[in-house]
Amino acid sequence: MPDYFTEVDVLRNGDSAGNGMTLRLTDSHGRTIHTVAVPQEGHSHTGPTWAYIFENEGLTLIDPGAEASFELLRTGMALGGLEVGDIERVIITHGHADHDGGVARVIEQSGAELWAHDIYQPLLPFDPRDLQFMASSPIHQAMWETAKANGFSPSNSEERERYMASRKTHQVGHHIAHGEQQGELKYMHAPGHSPDEICAVIDNGPGSGMVFTGDHVLPEISPHPTMKTAFNGPVLNSLPIHYQDPDDSFGLLTYLRSLQRVADLGPEVAVLPAHRLYNNHKFNFQTTQRAADLIRFHARRLGRILVTAGPEPQPLEDVTRQTFERRKLEGGNFFAALTEVVAHIELLEDSGDLEVTDDHKLRRTGRENYQDLLRAL
Ligand SMILES: [Zn+2]
Ligand SMILES: [Zn+2]
Repeated sequence: MPDYFTEVDVLRNGDSAGNGMTLRLTDSHGRTIHTVAVPQEGHSHTGPTWAYIFENEGLTLIDPGAEASFELLRTGMALGGLEVGDIERVIITHGHADHDGGVARVIEQSGAELWAHDIYQPLLPFDPRDLQFMASSPIHQAMWETAKANGFSPSNSEERERYMASRKTHQVGHHIAHGEQQGELKYMHAPGHSPDEICAVIDNGPGSGMVFTGDHVLPEISPHPTMKTAFNGPVLNSLPIHYQDPDDSFGLLTYLRSLQRVADLGPEVAVLPAHRLYNNHKFNFQTTQRAADLIRFHARRLGRILVTAGPEPQPLEDVTRQTFERRKLEGGNFFAALTEVVAHIELLEDSGDLEVTDDHKLRRTGRENYQDLLRAL
């Protein structure tokens, strides 16, 4: 039994992949949170998306999930006596298909108002994946050379095109600002995994409460950090002036700063993640301690990459292959591993610990300067 929630009622068990599982969580203040695990499109190692439904100045839904999620969301809500038609507000934690792909259907059925971070709407015309491929720095050039040598090139699936077409139709009714309070929810901008990521906190007094973390903080798995990017003209034309520096919303250092924001809520605040709340026959009720653990995880990875890089120039491919276990480098996983290593290398370049040579190899130039950046989070 998790410490924060006094009751966890299983209203429905999920299928073998966990889809459809429905819970009612009750805290010591008698507040109830209804949550349904809804399916992703196709296979995903992150597992179903947990949609959260509760009262906060009207029935509120955080993340409807992917396009295919509607039926399980509807039937799961009904188990708690809730109806999609009564939803007044849909909050999107960030613009990824497994979170906002089902928005159109829920809004059509409910007339709910769509809430998302300030930069969610301006970024809707752009593919979230391609947004971080706009940089042309030497490390990004090395990344594309390595990707090509391993047979990877970004491709567009039918699902992806359908999602891109549908997200362009989303109309945000309320743009969320960092620090905004609405009813019991306080919103926090938490960029890094996605530039528009928000967390929503319910404060229950000093060091107590819960935080809906979207993909920013997940149990069991470390959320994928973005790489640094450069914004092209169309992106710059869309974004409000104070969001035009890509370093404020992309990259590992940005992600770690956002993790620190969650850790600073105090170590006892319950985390309600968008994935893996239940997985493999067990619950993963965690606290904001998980955010601090994720910072330490990335610190270890930074240290390991530096040791691997060494004083003699090393190819990016070798450093990538020595950073991850073999099974995490197979097939399509290789590119995800590569981009994750690049995100770490960018931070090490910033700290003066590593440089990219003219022939796109990695050379260690410092030892642990990155620790200063981590201390200043
Ligand atoms: Zn997700
Ligand atoms: Zn995501």
